[in-house]
Amino acid sequence: MSAPPKSDAPAKPANFLRTLIERELQDGVYAQRQWGGSPGDAAHHLSGEADPAPVRLRFPPEPNGYLHIGHAKSICLNFGLARDFGGICHLRFDDTNPEKEEQEFVDAIIEMVHWLGWSWDANFKNQPSHHLYYASNYFDFMYRAAEHLVERGLAYVDEQSAEAMRANRGDFNTPGTDSPWRGRTPAENLVRLREMRDGQHADGSMVLRARIDMASPNINLRDPALYRIKRAHHHNTGDAWCIYPMYAYAHPIEDALENITHSLCTLEFEDQRPWYDWLLGQLADGGLLQRPLPKQHEFGRLNLTYVMTSKRKLRALVDEGIVSGWDDPRMPTLAGMRRRGYTPEAVRKFAEDTGASKTNIWVDYSVLDGALRADLEGKAGRAMAVIAPLKLKLVNWAELFGASHVEPCSAPAHPQLPELGLRAFGLGAEVWVEQDDFAEVPAKGFFRLFPGSRVRLKYGMVVECTGCEKDAEGRVSAVLAVVVPDTKSGTPGADAVKVKGTITWVGVQDGLAATFVLYDRLFTVPQPEAGGRDFRESLNPASKTVSTGFVEPSLATAPADQRYQFERHGYFVSDRHDHRPEAPVFNRIAGLKDGWAK
Ligand code: ATP
Ligand code: MG
Repeated sequence: MSAPPKSDAPAKPANFLRTLIERELQDGVYAQRQWGGSPGDAAHHLSGEADPAPVRLRFPPEPNGYLHIGHAKSICLNFGLARDFGGICHLRFDDTNPEKEEQEFVDAIIEMVHWLGWSWDANFKNQPSHHLYYASNYFDFMYRAAEHLVERGLAYVDEQSAEAMRANRGDFNTPGTDSPWRGRTPAENLVRLREMRDGQHADGSMVLRARIDMASPNINLRDPALYRIKRAHHHNTGDAWCIYPMYAYAHPIEDALENITHSLCTLEFEDQRPWYDWLLGQLADGGLLQRPLPKQHEFGRLNLTYVMTSKRKLRALVDEGIVSGWDDPRMPTLAGMRRRGYTPEAVRKFAEDTGASKTNIWVDYSVLDGALRADLEGKAGRAMAVIAPLKLKLVNWAELFGASHVEPCSAPAHPQLPELGLRAFGLGAEVWVEQDDFAEVPAKGFFRLFPGSRVRLKYGMVVECTGCEKDAEGRVSAVLAVVVPDTKSGTPGADAVKVKGTITWVGVQDGLAATFVLYDRLFTVPQPEAGGRDFRESLNPASKTVSTGFVEPSLATAPADQRYQFERHGYFVSDRHDHRPEAPVFNRIAGLKDGWAK
């Protein structure tokens, strides 16, 4: 028997959506969809033609905040499925709630979806196309559809107070009670709806509701609200409207107008699915929409330990000054993660590896850092940095080489990428080492600098520690050592002297002063809100530590937003805003190992 042929394509993690779409495509569910006479406001580009794309998905953010790591999951799922099945994914702003939405957020969302590497400009057979949409561009159609429902007796204007409406909705155990306005005729309702639209009624004085079943066991079907009166300026439609569609009404229509095949959402919308199907079914029966209609599919939310993924909570962190802004490198926003130094490749890998399932999942933060390290290990240039410096004086340097002698040293820019060449730096009479690389009295197993120990200055020479100097307060102000002759790395016989420890260092004569911003997790506990706790109680006081130290001279030309592995310390990025060649600022992205593992 012969072995099955090996595929070169990387294995895609299986998930139920992939399996579903594969089966549908085999069954020809979406083959040759005809959209003749398709309701024009939106998908006019398809009007009268067969839709060539086998599947169409969308990522539908509300522009009321910045995207976070949970959104990255949804973005990669939707755009990824479209890519894998030769389909199209739309970026659509779900902008039906003008009070909370702003152009700033629209711009930031567009920027971050692009940053993640996805495009709505040409993703079907590389044909130029432009699949960027705004729900607010469908307001006319949504309103027409509302009049249609009214005319068919499927919607009514309710003038109950908000409290009465809430009370009459009932709960899980109690059926709802009909509104006194439920029995109005379609003609009466149409007049009222038009008055609402024309601004003849006060904000909040009445709403348009679907007329389904106040006793339905599914509360979402107890006459959900479709339109409310709200005099608010909209970032796209300005003051054209004083009534706005409710999210639950708008969203299915948006999907249908754009000929979406798979409308993916998180699990909490599962109970909304009967409503989704009811609404679109009614509009198709009425001839306003074409079949086949989009179908809603729910997947589990991504939760990440040590992180909150709720725009409202993230806004609180910003508004209360707990972080410096939406792009603070400790924020789980994509803007924050980019500034922290995460790569789009690592975020995509993380999103893909966590798959899609039918349950909400908690993923440990170390999985994200693991994806980052896997991405950066092979491509981040190496360099030496001293973050908390202490001076090491080589007391026999002058005698051996002359006081001002500087011994040229070098190291590979990347150990696996020889084509990147060598970094050059010098070893002189004084070097910077880390404070915690010295101990007057070493603990068991400490093999770095202590009186009598021998260590190698990496890429340099072996030194033997002879003691230290102290300041007036008794603090160690410098470490003293002698160079062991003939031990320079790369010279014959250099290895004859055995050492147990190797330390990184930066020359005093050529080191560049640098600021290091050591970021760590924002919370001290994996689930900051578990048990109803206030997340403010578990803020990590050490989530941001600033230190001044030194980097090797090869970083003099480091541009902003460049990633490095500082040997022994971890991955760092030059800050995209604050870094200057003459005043470098490096953010710690992650350590070399998971420092939080138990
Ligand atoms: P938040 O709760 O942070 O306000 P949201 O769901 O209200 O998020 P939207 O802008 O409506 O924010 O989200 C756009 C899309 O991203 C939705 O389809 C939503 O299901 C998805 N999404 C949001 N958070 C997550 C998450 N943690 N995991 C997976 N998908 C998510
Ligand atoms: Mg939402």
